[in-house]
Amino acid sequence: MCSTPWKLLGGLAVLAGSMLALLLVGPIALPKHSATNPSGINATAPHPVPILPEAWPLSLAAGAARVVEGTFRLGDTFGNVLNQAGVPGRLIDQLAHAVKPDFNVQRIRSGRAYKIYFTPDNELVLFRYQRSEQQTVLVAKGASGWRAIEITIPYKIRPRFIQAKVLGSLEGALEATSIGRTGAIRLAHELAGIFAWDIDFSADLRVNDNVNLVVEQRFLEGRFVGFGDVLLAELNIADRVYRAVRYQRLGAATAYFTPVGQSLQRAFLRSPVDFTSISSGFSHRRMHPILNIAKPHYGIDYVAPAGTPVHATATGTIAYVGRTGQAGNHVKIRHGGSYTSHYLHLSRFADEIKVGDSIEQGQVLGYVGRTGLATNNHLHYQLDQSGTFVDPLRINLPAGAPLADELMPDFIRQRDAWISILREGQVDRPLVLAGSGE
Ligand SMILES: [Zn+2]
Repeated sequence: MCSTPWKLLGGLAVLAGSMLALLLVGPIALPKHSATNPSGINATAPHPVPILPEAWPLSLAAGAARVVEGTFRLGDTFGNVLNQAGVPGRLIDQLAHAVKPDFNVQRIRSGRAYKIYFTPDNELVLFRYQRSEQQTVLVAKGASGWRAIEITIPYKIRPRFIQAKVLGSLEGALEATSIGRTGAIRLAHELAGIFAWDIDFSADLRVNDNVNLVVEQRFLEGRFVGFGDVLLAELNIADRVYRAVRYQRLGAATAYFTPVGQSLQRAFLRSPVDFTSISSGFSHRRMHPILNIAKPHYGIDYVAPAGTPVHATATGTIAYVGRTGQAGNHVKIRHGGSYTSHYLHLSRFADEIKVGDSIEQGQVLGYVGRTGLATNNHLHYQLDQSGTFVDPLRINLPAGAPLADELMPDFIRQRDAWISILREGQVDRPLVLAGSGE
């Protein structure tokens, strides 16, 4: 390889930390000398357009002498934006054609940001297009001509301590901590999910209850882009203390546990669908809205827009998928122990759902509809235990499995890291870890 690009890469030493994270995305390490030669561009030699180094294209940006940045507006095209920045039309056509298999410039959308980098001789060296928050398309010259690649920029995570005092709603309390409305809504929603089985935030909160959190702040290239997971929560609500610790195993989904590793989840989800209201609860005798006779209602009717995904409330095996008269499109799942769950009136089933399949808690079974005997779009959800219908909102369902013994050391390591952040932020009231999350 010619040495010029690596000279340009000398500017690498000044790269921001976020760019260094990109090392993770490519297998090719930089030659040692380039990282130790911060002298940058040779001021007297000519500056041919550097060659795109495999897996390290963003480094080209470091050697650029001029950068044009902006956001595609309605009516803007790849061509006119590059042309206005000073790229000759002939080159634009040539590179748009060359990169087409990987990046169709016709598909550029308004509202997306771009950056165009030039050499000291004012030649295009790199075009950068922000496809989404993390997805970035880079167009640069490779050994065999112009090419485009898409990379994912990883979030940099910095934990933050947040302390809120309740005056009215949880959302309001969080918003008063200066995290902003969007952040408050997101974190309130997260907490409602984490403590779904333990706290009803619309009913249980009292004035002066307090909420202590350690949460993920996500940064992209030094810019705060929003909150991620709640890492640690300690809530004092109506004279009770609730605690949750996030645990993430490599490659596995995150889950929440008490500080001693008891699961905060139940073996069953509280509800199978993100609903807007409950139109009928469980009852041994109610007036049927269509048949107009008193009939028992052995399930819960969750009202939700047609097409809302319906999730399996617990791990199990599909026992029935099909259409049964008044029930409409119906899925039945047999769970370990003595439970069976039913999902009725679905508009359609999820692809590839069939009898005998094993299914995970939370997996999508189908979508809300009004098939069978139904006046509106809703999910009729029903649970039976050893052949007897039970009220899913009242029975005390079994708890999820506690953390396995062999995972405890790793869990404790993660937990203690979040606790130390909570302690630092909370110097006047040290966290007492004794006991479970209650
Ligand atoms: Zn019903």
